[in-house]
Amino acid sequence: MRWIAVLLYLINGCKVSAQTAIRSQHFIFYSTPQNLKTAEQGLQRLEELRAAIQALHGKQWVSTSPLRIWMPANEAAWKRFTKINAEQGIFVSGQDQNWVVINPWSQNFLEVLSHEYIHAVLHRTLPNLPTWFEEGICEYYSNLLLRRKWNRFEVVVGQAPARHRRNLETLPSLDLEQLAREPISIYTYAPAWAAAYHLWPGYKAGDKFPSKLSIGPFEPRIIPIDYITPDKAQTLLSRKEIQELEIEFRNQFPGMNQPIEAELARAESDFLEGLRLSDSGQTKQAIPLLEKACALRPSNSSWWNALALAYQENRQLTEARQAIEKALATAKNETETAAARSLQKSLN
Ligand SMILES: [Zn+2]
Repeated sequence: MRWIAVLLYLINGCKVSAQTAIRSQHFIFYSTPQNLKTAEQGLQRLEELRAAIQALHGKQWVSTSPLRIWMPANEAAWKRFTKINAEQGIFVSGQDQNWVVINPWSQNFLEVLSHEYIHAVLHRTLPNLPTWFEEGICEYYSNLLLRRKWNRFEVVVGQAPARHRRNLETLPSLDLEQLAREPISIYTYAPAWAAAYHLWPGYKAGDKFPSKLSIGPFEPRIIPIDYITPDKAQTLLSRKEIQELEIEFRNQFPGMNQPIEAELARAESDFLEGLRLSDSGQTKQAIPLLEKACALRPSNSSWWNALALAYQENRQLTEARQAIEKALATAKNETETAAARSLQKSLN
């Protein structure tokens, strides 16, 4: 936390570019300095997944031209970018370069990133797949696990991602005709994953699909591979390189103006500084910063929760209860709801 606060101070103090970019051998991650740690993790996962895909499917499956990943500064910027809620990431095939755009608040960041990377791979290798099947294959590889066995490597695939298990239990069978007929929605991914489990990687371009399949059973598949460990080096792009990337970015996403992003990034830095003060017991100083951050970005449950906690510690119980109401109203998952509920309980 302290490290981030120092970094933000430097950014605000020295007026350096609000964007940063980091490169590995085959990927460039474009985002804000606050997301640097996430970017590093993302690049490492992508290089490993790329090497695993090369070992599984051959050299022609991987590209040498670096794929660009853009993670908007915050959730609000992401929402301005897309109105589609089905996916937490988007693959954008550009004229010169391909981009993957990732929701900075996505729950399973590495799986989402892996899913989108597989879109980039399939876009090149199997461009005419039915959309639902492509989504299924992307899901299939999203949680690919790479592990070392003695002096060899193996991958584990075919374990249903946790988010699909309950959906799959409620389905009587896999209706592939229905999958092909209906537009992609959040309900597509679980059956599409299951269909890919049964049909992939045996599928060849042009194969006919059965109309129905049984749901399971699903057993993890352990596949020994000749894995070539990728180069782990990552380097920050120079200022000049970032400017070039910025031009590319503006050509690809002309609607995305940065000034609003900068304002929202300030909300984040206010929040982080408020949280730091609050953590170190300086709640009086923390509250105005947290209030400002919540006003700028009112859709974030965990921020309201942090504000409520600061109010509580400062004995402003009425304000704390109001903030908790907001935290409950904006909670996006069970964890956020549970966090707000437990704080609410301690207030009553
Ligand atoms: Zn997808």
